[in-house]
Amino acid sequence: MASEPPYKKQKTSSPAEPHKIVIVGGNFAGINLAHYLLHDTLPGLQKLHPDFSYKVTLVTPNTHFFFKVTAPREIVRPDQVPEEELFPSIVENFVKYRSSFKYVRGKAVALRDADSTVIVKRDMEQEELELQWDALAIATGATPASPLWTLHDNRKETKAAIMRLHQRLAKAAASKGNKFSAVIVTGEGPLGIEVAGDVAHAYPGTRVVLMAPGERLLPSLPPQAGEDAKTALEALGVYIKLNERIVDSRPTTTNVSVMLHDGDTMSVGAYIDATGPRTLNTGWLPKAWLDEGGHVLMRDENFRIHGGPGRIYAIGEVVVGSGETAVEVDGMAATVASSIGADINTTLGGGI
Ligand SMILES: Cc1cc2nc3c(=O)[nH]c(=O)nc-3n(C[C@H](O)[C@H](O)[C@H](O)COP(=O)(O)OP(=O)(O)OC[C@H]3O[C@@H](n4cnc5c(N)ncnc54)[C@H](O)[C@@H]3O)c2cc1C
Repeated sequence: MASEPPYKKQKTSSPAEPHKIVIVGGNFAGINLAHYLLHDTLPGLQKLHPDFSYKVTLVTPNTHFFFKVTAPREIVRPDQVPEEELFPSIVENFVKYRSSFKYVRGKAVALRDADSTVIVKRDMEQEELELQWDALAIATGATPASPLWTLHDNRKETKAAIMRLHQRLAKAAASKGNKFSAVIVTGEGPLGIEVAGDVAHAYPGTRVVLMAPGERLLPSLPPQAGEDAKTALEALGVYIKLNERIVDSRPTTTNVSVMLHDGDTMSVGAYIDATGPRTLNTGWLPKAWLDEGGHVLMRDENFRIHGGPGRIYAIGEVVVGSGETAVEVDGMAATVASSIGADINTTLGGGI
């Protein structure tokens, strides 16, 4: 943990004004936190301080949540999960909180900590929107390399990428005797393993090759886990190639041309990038708040951030040391909401 910075004095809402809580980023972390605050923390504070009122504003470019966890299954069975479960509407899910919640469609592009303001670029509008906060939560996550797993600003692009791949897979499976019909999956982690297994299971007899850049599968887990995954995949007929990487891929109308790291090229039926490289969406934050990899540095284990004028929190994949899982976000949301609640309570003169 980084040491505590000297905090600037901060203006807060007067009791007559609603306390402004701005959450930037609306998927697993941001949505979870917004629900936690609106359902538990803020109504609880209102019981303690009857004059206290609040407004939670969620700023995000996507209109719908993306339940990425089922995306690997979607590419083999795109009809398995109804669209409204894969992409539930954000606004509809917050209707019950009425005027305590506001959705702003847009992307944070910068912030001014001197007057606690986030600057938001909205697609349709020329002018940038300035949003003041009393508490700010950073939940902007990361963007994976592949368009399949990415929460595009428009969910239809994600669905279209899934459908395009599904059609290629179906075509590759239909011509499985053809030597150019192999399906190449890259990625040594859980996603690569899940995708290779799902494809092999859905299209028996199709040549599925899992390429991993290192010496073994699941390098972040004990070696036995990697061995078990390898055995299970081989039982499904997956070929595993270690120390192999794809450095370029070019889809044609019929096939995909891929280039290996040694310069060799291959024509294959489908290529699925299930590698980890992802860009953290923290470029809009001051560099001093981030580590070298772009993760937000923490001041304490309750997700108060290291930089800024205070009352700024981070949650989800942006947090330094994040396990990059959706499952950890539940616990984080409870902790961040408690930190926000405790800090507001202190401002309102309440005890700890
Ligand atoms: C294919 C796949 C399968 C997975 N399966 C599992 C699984 O089985 N189990 C598990 O635990 N985890 C799984 N994960 C990991 C899990 O999905 C992530 O850890 C989780 O999505 C992180 O949530 P997040 O809200 O921090 O980030 P994200 O989900 O990336 O959400 C970030 C949000 O911020 C928005 N945003 C970005 N930039 C800005 C900006 N400048 N201004 C405003 N908003 C912005 C984005 O549009 C998005 O709404 C999987 C991930 C993938 C890709």
